[in-house]
Amino acid sequence: MIILGATGSIGRAALEVAQSLNGDVRIVGLAAGTRWRELAEQAARFEVPRVAVADDRCYRDLRAACPAHTKVLAGPDGLLELVVDSPEANFVLSAIVGAAGLPPTLAAVERGLDVGLANKESLVVAGAILAKRARARGGRLIPVDSEHSAIFQALQSGRREEVRRVYLTASGGPFRTWTRERIAAATLEDALNHPTWDMGPKITIDSATMMNKALEVIEARWLFELRPEEIEVLVHPESIIHSMVEYCDGSIIAQLGAADMKTPIQYAITYPRRVDGVAKRLCFRETSRLSFEPPDFDRFPALRLGYEAARAGGAAGAVLNAANEAAVERFRAREIPFGMIAELCADVLSRRQDIEDPTLAQLLECDQWARREAQACIHS
Ligand code: NAD
Ligand code: MG
Repeated sequence: MIILGATGSIGRAALEVAQSLNGDVRIVGLAAGTRWRELAEQAARFEVPRVAVADDRCYRDLRAACPAHTKVLAGPDGLLELVVDSPEANFVLSAIVGAAGLPPTLAAVERGLDVGLANKESLVVAGAILAKRARARGGRLIPVDSEHSAIFQALQSGRREEVRRVYLTASGGPFRTWTRERIAAATLEDALNHPTWDMGPKITIDSATMMNKALEVIEARWLFELRPEEIEVLVHPESIIHSMVEYCDGSIIAQLGAADMKTPIQYAITYPRRVDGVAKRLCFRETSRLSFEPPDFDRFPALRLGYEAARAGGAAGAVLNAANEAAVERFRAREIPFGMIAELCADVLSRRQDIEDPTLAQLLECDQWARREAQACIHS
């Protein structure tokens, strides 16, 4: 296996899973953005033959920190080389954050490798292309995102044409009960304080705006070939039911578990088998109730944008994702208020030019355009 995004929340959890599967999984490549020291430590601990760091400026440090026999690559091309030139690999865990994960994920798909997909942004940007190329090259896209792993598992209870709808559950994030005014003025610390999941900063902020669920609607659309109307977001604050599939006969199949990403990570790695895991277990003595509420599209306008982009197709996903990445970056730098994240996204999305069946190059252009537009809005 190759792990892209090894130093992140998902990457670290994946290494724990790999260790627990002792001997069944060999790690042949690790990649990260900038954290070269941790990357070198991971490579030493797991005797990994190749590592890649996306930031070129870290090359010298990473090279010096690794043993001479370790191959050290750098830059976005280094990540591609890692994926393309690891002949022993048959599985890639795609866990880079943001659209930066798209090129190496696509390279893995083009090699016909099975991909465990945590990096939802790559599907949001280029879902049509990734899904089509995976089919053509024979590799599988196995979801790691907890909701999509749940749907993937629940879909094994029936045939595709028997599916009536999918319930995509959402914790509701830290602002689930807040008023619109209070949400608009939330601080960075408020937004980073997620009630149920411990995750990287970008997805934690996306959970607070519920843009995360918006991106997940688009992700589900491509992974499972669903129409947006077949995907229903359901707020479930306990994060125990990870999602559900309703069949035509009225049966609803759910997947439950503790809020621990090691479960879906491990399932993606061992699929179609199941083996003993290191993930937390759900204990029903501590879990007395499961509650549900409809999402509030007025207090969480980002959610509406997800449906809009899912319906529009074309480059809408790429535009929405890039605007959101830019806005979240500015919010993390404390340059814009929380409420402006969704506003910026709505604004940029409404000004896009529609393209039918965009090529990868066109999608990347739209991504760049949307980032520039978002930036321009902030400074105007
Ligand atoms: P994180 O911020 O903790 O880690 C991100 C990883 O990506 C790090 O290893 C970082 O070095 C690397 N990275 C960042 N920019 C890069 C670049 N330009 N090039 C190469 N590598 C780069 O993020 P995370 O929480 O682990 O999330 C990773 C992905 O998994 C995201 O797409 C997220 O939406 C998805 N996901 C995460 C969780 C979770 O529980 N953390 C759950 C579901 C889905
Ligand atoms: Mg999720």
